[in-house]
Amino acid sequence: MATATLTIDLNALAENWRALDAASNSGVETAAVVKANGYGLGAGRVARVLAQAGARRFFVAVAEEAAAVREALGPGPEICVFSGHMSGDTDMIHDLHLTPMLNSIDQMLRHVEALPGHPFGVQLDTGMNRLGMEPAEWAALRDIALAQNIRLIMSHLACADEPDHPMNTYQQRVFVEMTEGCNVPRSLSATGGILLGPDYHFDVTRPGIGMYGGLPFEQAKPVAHIALPVIQIREVEPGETVGYGNTWTATAPARIATVAAGYADGIHRAMGPKTSLYAGETPCPIRGRISMDLIGVDVTHLDEDPKELSLLNHVQTVDVLADNAGTIGYEILTSLGARYRRRYTSS
Ligand SMILES: *Cc1c(COP(=O)(O)O)cnc(C)c1O
Repeated sequence: MATATLTIDLNALAENWRALDAASNSGVETAAVVKANGYGLGAGRVARVLAQAGARRFFVAVAEEAAAVREALGPGPEICVFSGHMSGDTDMIHDLHLTPMLNSIDQMLRHVEALPGHPFGVQLDTGMNRLGMEPAEWAALRDIALAQNIRLIMSHLACADEPDHPMNTYQQRVFVEMTEGCNVPRSLSATGGILLGPDYHFDVTRPGIGMYGGLPFEQAKPVAHIALPVIQIREVEPGETVGYGNTWTATAPARIATVAAGYADGIHRAMGPKTSLYAGETPCPIRGRISMDLIGVDVTHLDEDPKELSLLNHVQTVDVLADNAGTIGYEILTSLGARYRRRYTSS
């Protein structure tokens, strides 16, 4: 193995989607969020597998991201764009048959003027204050919007990963009030909202992270696995140091493996002190600072010299790495970078 390998288990991905789909009743449609290149795992491949599993509606963050998804899916499935209809997006929305989730009066005007009759959705702000129309804005626009080719009304929960947070019931109530009598499919929940229960499911759910194996979906199967090639093993004497800044000093004779990956591959420097690489089931602690392309790893206790070491596996999951780095699984996945050899398995 010459380069770091990111293996993506497409069966686990499909199973996670099915499990999230099964968490709501059969009248609820489970869509799939494939923004940020399918959370770093490859939007085209991911979308195709999810379509085979039964997803009929996909979400991306910006129109540019939809090109790879449309190419992978062909003309049938709906591709929705969270950022709505931004200036300059019209041709892409038209040519790729995208459904923009309009989030302001300006976007609504732009859309119906540029592409009359073209489908769209509406995004409402129920308290997160990130994207979407506020209640007064929506009240002014609602009748006009409902007379056009509107496909979906959505909002987004700010605290869904904290089930007891009062913001959840508050936003749910505001969403019900703002959409009462609209007779258009409604969507409020991402992964966290699905797990809050049926009051949050409405007509369409929009899972992302849970499909990719991350919290808050605790039952998720791991989807991403990373193996790093060992390019050298050296003996280090007591008193010698490893890596930039001399942050680790050997106190006894040690064997240090150097693996070919680093923070340019999304292995954040901050995770170094708490993170090990694995030789099978055996953890091998990182020694010294994580560099851009190289990491030192203590393999003194191994019986055999490893050819590769695993960073991401069923023990050290994306959420363990995230904890070690002081961040969240989403950020670990989406920062993995372009240098990996991406391998897709479906065994
Ligand atoms: C990213 C995103 C999702 C998916 O969220 P997960 O927490 O990954 O399930 C759903 N809806 C919106 C608006 C998003 O931005």
